[in-house]
Amino acid sequence: MRTLETLSGGEWFATGEWIDVHDPADLRTPVARVPALGAADVTRAYDHAEQGFARWKRTSPFERARIMTDAARLLRERVTRIAEDLSTEMGKTLAEATGEALKAADFLEYYAGVARQGYGTLVHDIRPDTRTHHQREPLGIVLAITPWNDPLITPARKLAPCLAAGNAAVLKPATDTPQAALHLARALHDAGLPAGVLNVVTGRGSEISGALLRDPRPAAVTFTGSNEVGEGLRAALAHTNVRFQGELGGKNATVVLADADLPAAARAVAAAGFAQAGQRCTATSRVIVERPVYEEFTALLLAEAAALRVGPGRDPGTTMGPLASARQRDSVLSDVERAVKQGAAVLTGGDRPADETLGHGCYVNPTVLGEVTPDQDIWREEVFGPVLALRVVDSFEEAVDAVNDSVFGLAAAVFTRDLGAAHRFADEAECGQIAVNTTTSGWDVHHPFGGFRDSGSPFKEQGEEALRFYTRVKTVAIHFGA
Ligand code: NAD
Repeated sequence: MRTLETLSGGEWFATGEWIDVHDPADLRTPVARVPALGAADVTRAYDHAEQGFARWKRTSPFERARIMTDAARLLRERVTRIAEDLSTEMGKTLAEATGEALKAADFLEYYAGVARQGYGTLVHDIRPDTRTHHQREPLGIVLAITPWNDPLITPARKLAPCLAAGNAAVLKPATDTPQAALHLARALHDAGLPAGVLNVVTGRGSEISGALLRDPRPAAVTFTGSNEVGEGLRAALAHTNVRFQGELGGKNATVVLADADLPAAARAVAAAGFAQAGQRCTATSRVIVERPVYEEFTALLLAEAAALRVGPGRDPGTTMGPLASARQRDSVLSDVERAVKQGAAVLTGGDRPADETLGHGCYVNPTVLGEVTPDQDIWREEVFGPVLALRVVDSFEEAVDAVNDSVFGLAAAVFTRDLGAAHRFADEAECGQIAVNTTTSGWDVHHPFGGFRDSGSPFKEQGEEALRFYTRVKTVAIHFGA
């Protein structure tokens, strides 16, 4: 078992209290341990962040960009080791973990470029000999709280724009998957990030929540995770002037219209539903199919599910790894059981693999449910596992109504050859991310990203949009006449 230290004030340290990290492919022995920080360590992390911010906000954007570019290079050089650790703590396949590590490097590189640009606009001024502009400035200290499903790119998606804009950060990674965030911290530290600019508090969310949120120093909190925790954070910050960004749950739908390329649709739905064993906020979980092609599409989708090879993420032949924890596995199996009690039919999966060698892991077979109706919980509630719920509809309008029949609004896709239907869908689906003839997941670092309704908050992540969250606007009028 590896023992890891965490980073605060430019030093790597441990406290003597530990959190064990388990491999969801085989839970029997812990694979690593990280410090379980307490409230006093959190306060110290904010002390360090104050010092870090004082220096970083005055650091030239070109120097910030250089450090971020070097950190990206280090992530790429270390990709094999990072992908192994990521797969071991979270369960995803090596291919998925490698892709995640390279995308984290992309985030740093993209925002290193953005950092050089400066953010502001020259505007007219009615006063003679006066020139006015508004400029974007860093906020100060940002608290970032991230989940276990993408434990490397979620911190990278937040830290890259945060640091590029000149803020300091306190990062609280998910309790189950802290190694990935520590790899990111190490790359930034080794690239020369000044002390205190990034401080990582490995600890149990529920135990250090008070110290994280009651401290008056963070100017903003960016959170990705469940609606339950996100709503608690929003409530805790309600009477403060702290900016809040929440990327929360989803119940993403893919629509297959009668004129669609059905094999392409089946491949895309399987990819969006079963990659990372369905544990992606943008995973497709509802599939809405026009009646004339329902049977043909379902047969193609079942063939895609049957072709998956479930196993440990580190085995090169595996195409779907385990769920991230026993808690997650049991929750998914119980959601399927409830769906069946409420009238859904299991077309495939819905259980653990029979293979005894997988008996100590958190596996669930890829699952497709038919006869799903809007009154069933499986239609409304996020499952966050490899489960697709199929519903049949009789028209485009009914399909759009079905997509919008959700408290969530993260991502939706349509498969059609009709350009008009594609555009109407993009206009009418109440989601922040719309895909036509491609998957609900898979957005690039420069694409603005985030959900509507209960999936999100007014601030998007990614692209230049992300800078709205991480900066404040100052207006400057300069009179240069006599
Ligand atoms: P979670 O809400 O349980 O935990 C997220 C983070 O919050 C973890 O670091 C956890 O330790 C911390 N936390 C828990 N309780 C806390 C508290 N009281 N105070 C402060 N921090 C606390 O979420 P999860 O189970 O790790 O992640 C899965 C969820 O994340 C799913 O709902 C998924 O849809 C969502 N998600 C959303 C997006 C998006 O962009 N919309 C992306 C990925 C995941």
